[in-house]
Amino acid sequence: MDNAPLLIVLPFLVIAFILGVFLGRSSKKNKMGKIPTYTPFSLSSDYFKGLNFLLNEQTDKAIDVFVGMLEVGEETVDTHISLGNLYRQRGEVEQAIKIHQNVIAKPSLSLSKRNDALYELARDFMNAGLLDRAENLFQELIHKQSHVPSAMKSLLSIYQQEHDWDDAILIAKKLESASNKSYALQVAHFYCELALIDFKAGHSKGALKLVKKALGTDKNSVRASILEGEINRSLGNYKAATRAYRRVEQQDPLMVSEILESLLYCYKELNNNKEIKTYLEHVLNEYGGITSVLLCAKQIQSLKDDKAAALFIVDSLRKKPSIRGLSSLIDISLDFTKGTAHENLLILQEITSKLLENKPVYQCTQCGFNGKSMYWHCPGCKSWSSVKPIQGIEGE
Ligand SMILES: [Zn+2]
Repeated sequence: MDNAPLLIVLPFLVIAFILGVFLGRSSKKNKMGKIPTYTPFSLSSDYFKGLNFLLNEQTDKAIDVFVGMLEVGEETVDTHISLGNLYRQRGEVEQAIKIHQNVIAKPSLSLSKRNDALYELARDFMNAGLLDRAENLFQELIHKQSHVPSAMKSLLSIYQQEHDWDDAILIAKKLESASNKSYALQVAHFYCELALIDFKAGHSKGALKLVKKALGTDKNSVRASILEGEINRSLGNYKAATRAYRRVEQQDPLMVSEILESLLYCYKELNNNKEIKTYLEHVLNEYGGITSVLLCAKQIQSLKDDKAAALFIVDSLRKKPSIRGLSSLIDISLDFTKGTAHENLLILQEITSKLLENKPVYQCTQCGFNGKSMYWHCPGCKSWSSVKPIQGIEGE
């Protein structure tokens, strides 16, 4: 812990050393081209002033001194760019922008070095939230055929932040051919985002077309199937909705719990009680998640009574323990118990609901982010389709 301040200053000390080497080298020749008597330590007093600032952890002042005493030339341009990058990494984006703009302003710079500085400046703008300015620079770089895949990746990230899904689709497709990597999963989500906008605006037909495009891009898009089910359900097309929902099982069995309730609703609207029973039994046997257990219990409760439903849950909990299952069991049992047993159940109910209150339901498989709501785009690591229902005793 005691070394922390030193570790922060260390990269700047390295830069200062490199600057020192350059300064020493450039002092070898004077303007007339004559070589003066040179010693490795014939550096200006400004250099030591800068070093002194660095050692006193006054990096701002140190950098001003170093930048002021050094002209940006072909030899030192990389050092200047690295300096700017260090500032960006430290979160001091304004300083980074100043340094990188200073590099670009030099007319004598070679094209490739200028593009290097331009790329870093675009990243500074992106970090500073100046997305329009970053976007323009990345496009300029792509136009110049410089830093193409990285600039495209950054543009993709910008368009997602701006919810500009049309441009996100275009750049992802270009990135696919530039990087030889599939972006089908992401593109399918972008189509779903567009479909959702249409659906919310009441344009169900347009929304369904976009969902088809999503599935055409990524046939395993669970989100597209769920959205297709939702749109058809809202239109009263229950048969089409059940077909879409049932596709989810093939696409990702972990997501079956997400569609069960909607699927059963559609079967109910179709008066297809036989299919409700068959599908629930199938899901119970295949996956045995608590959502299917509780939906089954609900069925039993409506067809028979509370006791039969409670017995069914007890039986399932023996095979696969679950806090949510226990909580439902207590809720049902409260209706047919009296006296001390009832009092005890009330205490248990309070404990289980407190336990569930603080338990996340979904978790990102990439970064571990968790919460009570389902996200298609992880708020933590910005991955798509990485958030799943939590499995095990505390989850599904
Ligand atoms: Zn994540």
